[in-house]
Amino acid sequence: MVKERVPMREQPVEVRVKNFDEVPLGYSEEEAIAEASRCLQCANYPCVKRCPVNIEIPKFVKQVAEGKFREAYYTLKENNPIPSIAGRVCPQESQCEGECTLGKVNQPINIGKLEAFVGDWAIDNNIREPINIVEKSEKVAVIGSGPTGISCAADLRKFGYKVTMFEALHKAGGVLQYGIPEFRLPKRIVNIELGFLEELGVEIQLNTIIGQHISFDEILNDFDAIYVGTGAGAPRFMNLAGEQLNGVYSANEFLIRTNLMKAYKFPEGSDTPILVGDRVAVIGAGNVAMDAARSALRYGADTHIIYRRTRNEAPARHEEFEHALQEGVIFHELQNPLRLNARAGWVDSITSTRMELGDPDEDGRRRPVPIENSDFTEKYDTVIEAIGTLPNRLFLERAEGLMVNKWGGIQVNEKLQTSIDKVFAGGDSISGGATVIQALGEGRIAAKNIHDYLSA
Ligand code: FAD
Ligand code: SF4
Repeated sequence: MVKERVPMREQPVEVRVKNFDEVPLGYSEEEAIAEASRCLQCANYPCVKRCPVNIEIPKFVKQVAEGKFREAYYTLKENNPIPSIAGRVCPQESQCEGECTLGKVNQPINIGKLEAFVGDWAIDNNIREPINIVEKSEKVAVIGSGPTGISCAADLRKFGYKVTMFEALHKAGGVLQYGIPEFRLPKRIVNIELGFLEELGVEIQLNTIIGQHISFDEILNDFDAIYVGTGAGAPRFMNLAGEQLNGVYSANEFLIRTNLMKAYKFPEGSDTPILVGDRVAVIGAGNVAMDAARSALRYGADTHIIYRRTRNEAPARHEEFEHALQEGVIFHELQNPLRLNARAGWVDSITSTRMELGDPDEDGRRRPVPIENSDFTEKYDTVIEAIGTLPNRLFLERAEGLMVNKWGGIQVNEKLQTSIDKVFAGGDSISGGATVIQALGEGRIAAKNIHDYLSA
């Protein structure tokens, strides 16, 4: 008989909606061993085939089942420099766990939570993977300290290059630091994983905007190769009438104020409060929308998500969606905002139209179509737009010679090499917004290609 999945202990709903602490409490050693012991060790490794960085999942899961946590950590680190982070934020249901054989008869192995368990165990026990760096003379610049910059910098150091990472903000980590809230990804974990990078010998220069504090030309002159991982931090707007009103935020601004500026700790731990009304609308249904909605809820607001398709098409991770609903976020599907209405300069309501699903579009998702004469108005005093992001323009405008693709990202070839030979790019700066693991995987591919380029 197939054993049931070992449940993940979580903060009770009524407690967690009043704090920003992490919701899942993590597996104990006994729980991790019991969960890993369910693995069938399938001969054809379907789980590995869907992992964007090809982690040897059956191998590390078996090591956990045998209580060999150190070995499991080494296995994970071969393909993933930040297991504690990836285990928490990867969309496992559409990757490894989505293909797990056990999922066909029961629940799949909880691969993500086992990965986070192993990463956390290594942190708690101060474990490092054995590395023998043979120093090289060439210097590589990594622009941006998000997941793609982290993985590229780590691999370049292991090849022996001198690596300097430049980060515009006062803290490293990219979206891991400023976007994903504490209740999903504690910053303690992000900072420890970044500390491992510095231990490897990567020099991190904070508060340095390439294109402003240091010109791109200077970087081109000073380094033998460059990796651009500047992400997609510019918010996309719906261009609705009323967007300029007080009380309207982009999700980027809302989450940066919450996470990086610690608005949730105001007044004890932060100088910068955030104004959140009684009734908040978040527009969109991806991870960013869930993070914004769950943060607004924790500020005490009656929080609503407005989405033009249905739950089935929502791009958010399954776990985030479930957590948002459990916590009391109200989901309105098949609604599309048309305009934001004002009262004394502040947003006061949203006029929306009802939608229905038509034929599939080019992505294969059914296209939302407005229903005639179905407009209606609902009262909201804060509106947060979470409909996607665009690559940062400042860098692109000032990096002369870098060609741009049709999504407004940096154009690269199959080697992730840009229109300038010694410059490579990856992550959200080329895709316009994808996942942590995709960004991480591209950082690793670029590091290998930069090594080939410098060795030629
Ligand atoms: P980023 O993480 O954006 O890092 C880019 C870094 O470059 C930033 O620190 C920026 O300050 C810096 N930078 C930019 N320009 C310059 C410059 N000129 N000079 C110096 N530094 C510069 N993905 C998942 O897989 N799972 C999730 O649950 C998930 N949730 C998300 C929640 C939110 C709120 C957001 C915004 C995204 C989420 N994503 C999630 C997407 C994921 O975080 C991104 O795909 C990933 O972070 C991209 O990594 P990156 O390194 O390319 O860019
Ligand atoms: Fe184990 Fe599932 Fe991978 Fe099979 S598919 S090896 S059961 S994790």
